[in-house]
Amino acid sequence: KQRRKGGSGRSGKMERPALHPHPLMSFKDTRGRFGISSRLAANLNEQGYSVPTEVQMGALPILLDASEQYLGHDIPLSAETDRRSSPNLLTVAPTGSGKTLAFMIPLLHRVQSRRHRDQHPTRTVCAIVLAPTKELVGQITNEGRKVTKGTGVSVTQLRKGMRLRPTRLSESKAKDTSSPNPTGGEPTVVKADVLICTPGLLHSMLNDEHNPAQDALADVRDLVLDEADVLLDPLFREQTLGVWHRIVSPRLSVSLWSATMGSNIEELAISTIKDWREKLSMQNRE
Ligand code: ADP
Ligand code: MG
Repeated sequence: KQRRKGGSGRSGKMERPALHPHPLMSFKDTRGRFGISSRLAANLNEQGYSVPTEVQMGALPILLDASEQYLGHDIPLSAETDRRSSPNLLTVAPTGSGKTLAFMIPLLHRVQSRRHRDQHPTRTVCAIVLAPTKELVGQITNEGRKVTKGTGVSVTQLRKGMRLRPTRLSESKAKDTSSPNPTGGEPTVVKADVLICTPGLLHSMLNDEHNPAQDALADVRDLVLDEADVLLDPLFREQTLGVWHRIVSPRLSVSLWSATMGSNIEELAISTIKDWREKLSMQNRE
């Protein structure tokens, strides 16, 4: 079941789009239809992915469409922006139905296209995937890495001891490495296009006064909440929102993925997006 907000102009309500894009019937079509890189397409093929699962058939066209349409356009937040902002997607599909690839492929495509278009020189975090446990974070990272071989996109699991790179830090100052420093010396700087983590770890890093990373999330355009019903439940909600509210791009696209429709996830998603938007427009007015 999918719902998408976009194009309606009325805030506060996720509505079905007038028209769903045509389902993706084969991974081969991702190249012709959405222009994903030959390398990414080859990796999918090599991993034995040929027929998308049902949730992938539905979600991939929505998210891949959006990545072309909205790429890299930072325009000030206004009623008009709000109306044209990138789609937020809530997807509910059973465990084992292939949700990971459904959000991962569009993220990878978006990073690749953005880098190609902007000739993005430095490696800063463009996308964040939050999941409730370290085990899940590891699984998502593995799944992502399987299909990034040779694409130049780095998918990194955030670990204790890593340091977030402030976005404006020059290349020369930052030591690029994606492994934590076991000797306990200078913390290593996270090298990641797509950062995968639990909300608790990222939230505590963002609030670490010894390693201020004020604008570390300045380039983030995609936020994925995997197991969103859990991430928005009372146990994780504060940390999840703590991360979300540090993302400042009005062009942020949020997708929420869940195996169950329980605990009024749709209302939660809508109200959370609304709160974030209000906070952002208040900040922009200051
Ligand atoms: P979910 O997150 O919905 O519970 P996963 O993303 O973990 O499901 O996927 C479950 C398994 O299905 C994984 O091992 C994954 O590699 C496999 N898988 C995903 N998409 C496909 C596909 N299109 N064809 C074959 N296997 C797939
Ligand atoms: Mg999953």
